[in-house]
Amino acid sequence: MLNHIIFQQLFEAQSSTYSYLIADPISKAAALIDPVLETVDRDLSLIKDMDLQLIYVLETHIHADHITGAGQIRKRLDTQIGVSHRAGASCADIQLEDGQSLALGDKKIQVLETPGHTNTCLSFYFEGCVFTGDALLIRGSGRTDFQEGSAETLYQSVTQKLFQLPEETLVYPGHDYRGLTSSTVALEKKLNPRLGGGRSQSEFVKIMSELKLAQPKKLDQAVKANLQCGLGVDNRSLRPQVVDGIPEVSVEDVHLQMKSVRLIDVRRPDEFDGELHHIPGAELVTLGEDLEKFLEQEDREQEMVFICRSGGRSGQATAKSIEMGFTKTVNMVGGMLRWNQANLPVE
Ligand code: FE
Repeated sequence: MLNHIIFQQLFEAQSSTYSYLIADPISKAAALIDPVLETVDRDLSLIKDMDLQLIYVLETHIHADHITGAGQIRKRLDTQIGVSHRAGASCADIQLEDGQSLALGDKKIQVLETPGHTNTCLSFYFEGCVFTGDALLIRGSGRTDFQEGSAETLYQSVTQKLFQLPEETLVYPGHDYRGLTSSTVALEKKLNPRLGGGRSQSEFVKIMSELKLAQPKKLDQAVKANLQCGLGVDNRSLRPQVVDGIPEVSVEDVHLQMKSVRLIDVRRPDEFDGELHHIPGAELVTLGEDLEKFLEQEDREQEMVFICRSGGRSGQATAKSIEMGFTKTVNMVGGMLRWNQANLPVE
């Protein structure tokens, strides 16, 4: 049905969020709608696998239930972030407005302002598909009780804008909690229990006022981060102390977080398998040329702990990584000597 465009519907399970990768198959120009921070690596490898050029990262709104991956993606690809001009997000490259169109090859993404769930809500129309964010969901709608939400406004957005699109337009929402993946304008006009079947604005307002919904868990943190394109959130597992310019952590701290960070042992291979052994899950990348080559290819935002015999060489490795632009690399003080003294697990 969608052979004339490249289309991938992507799912993030924690927040039940859909992201969409859309592209023009001829020019390979692509846009990614609503990426999630947790799935940035997946999305980037898909873009690479499909040989696409990501021109835009677009937000349907400032999300409250998850942190956007937009900023992280822009750090790794030359792309532009588009957010509603109403959000006041200065991190965005394009301040999107109603009626604006964005080119993907010879095709166009049409921007529609559809406020009501939040005042920053946009829908994107592309080649017979409309990406509605949380304005119109499959047989539902976004909530309207925070972030300048308004049931009256949402009713107007859906009935006057989205329901005015051609009946066969495919509707792709920002979330679905039941596993449905798409709808059409005709189906929602007819069957949407809140907005369809000719429901009046006052009926909709009443329905929305009677919903008793809990606040999303990450509300404050997510909104704050998303106004900065998902950057500026410190999600580090380790809290190092900086000594002489080198961030340091203790063996005990590394032990507590050893499953959530990368452990890079910079000793020689004979030491790695020698009497002090190594930490389970540690990767051997010997200090020097091996380490430099390794670091060149790694994501500069990654959290890594450097390890050696007593902490000297791993300190040098940490300094080198910082020089190369890494921001979350740390030195394990005391090295494998202290790790063994503390009777922590080895293999
Ligand atoms: Fe939302």
